[in-house]
Amino acid sequence: MRAALASAPPERARARARHGPPPDRPAAPAPGVAAADPAARGRRRLCCRACGAVIARPEDAIAVGGAHSHHVFNPAGIVFHIGCFRDAPGVRAVGPRTGRFTWFRGYDWVVTACGTCARHLGWMYHAIADTAPATFQALVLDRLVETGGDDGGDDGDDAGG
Ligand SMILES: [Zn+2]
Repeated sequence: MRAALASAPPERARARARHGPPPDRPAAPAPGVAAADPAARGRRRLCCRACGAVIARPEDAIAVGGAHSHHVFNPAGIVFHIGCFRDAPGVRAVGPRTGRFTWFRGYDWVVTACGTCARHLGWMYHAIADTAPATFQALVLDRLVETGGDDGGDDGDDAGG
């Protein structure tokens, strides 16, 4: 008789290790992500009230002659509430440069209009001498409307006119 090789595999109680601990990585809170996101809040823009074209950015507001906004009147007696900005990419200069009746001593001015609908929006000032800033924009504030947060360069292509 041959002794049969007892090849019965040993009963191994296999512990099923399927429920291992999940590979959790510690979620470190990023210090920059806060409720107040300055990048999102800085997207406000000043737009032409007549046509909606983007004219300037509120963060470009500057003080000239000690203040940002001024109440001024022209020789015809029309009062304007203007605000000073270092730049206003949405306007274009129209007409000649002159220093007559200037509201800012030491500056010449040129009338500016909306680059889209040509409505008069303000004046661009040029320093005559070595005055800072060398140039700035004065915009009639009630001819602008401030818009918030929406980004995406929509060219408001309204056939309105
Ligand atoms: Zn316009």
